[in-house]
Amino acid sequence: MTDTLLIRNVRPAGGAATDVLVRDGRIAAIGASAAGADLTFDAGGRLMIPGLVEAHTHLDKSFWGMGWHRHTAGPALIDKIETERRNRREFGIDADRQSGRLVAQMVKLGTTHIRSHVDVDTEVGLAGIEGVMAMRERLKDVIDVEIVAFAQSGMLIRPGTLELLDQAMAMGADVVGGLDPCTLDRDPKGHLDAIFGLAEKYGRPLDIHLHERGEVGAFSMELIIERTRALGMQGKVAISHAFCLGMPDADYVRRLMEDLAKERITLVTTAPAASPAPSVMACLKAGVVIAGGSDGVRDSWNPYGMGDMLERATLVGLRNNFRRDEEMELALDVCTYQGAKTMGIENYGLDVGCNADFVILPGETICEAIVERPADRTVVKRGRIVARHGELTQPIA
Ligand SMILES: [Zn+2]
Repeated sequence: MTDTLLIRNVRPAGGAATDVLVRDGRIAAIGASAAGADLTFDAGGRLMIPGLVEAHTHLDKSFWGMGWHRHTAGPALIDKIETERRNRREFGIDADRQSGRLVAQMVKLGTTHIRSHVDVDTEVGLAGIEGVMAMRERLKDVIDVEIVAFAQSGMLIRPGTLELLDQAMAMGADVVGGLDPCTLDRDPKGHLDAIFGLAEKYGRPLDIHLHERGEVGAFSMELIIERTRALGMQGKVAISHAFCLGMPDADYVRRLMEDLAKERITLVTTAPAASPAPSVMACLKAGVVIAGGSDGVRDSWNPYGMGDMLERATLVGLRNNFRRDEEMELALDVCTYQGAKTMGIENYGLDVGCNADFVILPGETICEAIVERPADRTVVKRGRIVARHGELTQPIA
């Protein structure tokens, strides 16, 4: 195994060309002092950005590599849940195999950290958690995967599910998941008491899917804020989607964002084209961390997606009407640094001492790279090249 790697002629964050020395999985030196290595990679003046952070996806149920499936689910949440349960039975989706296939695609495109929600319910049991855990162990040298144990089909409405979530946490899931406390379980107090209880029991963070819109969603969000404050869980709670923050009542949204910032509750957005969504600029002005995620990629929920967080940066830019360069750079920030904050990744970035998790890619500037999304990406994870010029250095699926 190579312990030192010298990247020559590379432009960190689009700045001046320099050399970067990597040793023992860390960035050891930048500039004139970067010298002497077992392996040299000539970046030819390409850009260097930190590893892309996929802060919300569902690795366990992607159809990636299984051919095209017709999408026939109706528009309601429950339609999609029922369709998914049927598809899972009909297609035989193996969580280990499918998560590995999607991870291979994501790694090739520069993702170095993934937070994946994984279904737990009375039908699939813990098979999804076991499958993604097996994949994570197999691919631990090329990707960091955080597992959220999550009751996609409802928790209180399906007796036995809470006990399975408890088992998933005991098995080593990293994060407790929640989902639409008012509209799915129809018992916001019961739902939130249960998931905050699990988080407290295992000393783990929470990530709650909140699709609920308007005042219903805002009510759920207030309850989440109250519990976070009461239990001293500041910095340990994330809310995914948070569609309610896209509602028109600007004063209410501002108050909610102030409270989110105070309790250090982070948000995760897909920058959806067809749903209300929190404004990235409003979040950043209020001091609320907002990360990016693909959500499902080619699964029964979502026919779209390439698992590419540079594409996500483009979507964040479009959704937020980011046109100036400094705004477009914020869109990439959502898919890098903000994701790292949400997942609590330590030593993340491009400075000396940071983890050597980064992407080298063509582009005159970061903005050009976001727009062009070049296939030619060289990906370094834990100080080793895992993809070179768009090809994995070893098959990992
Ligand atoms: Zn999701």
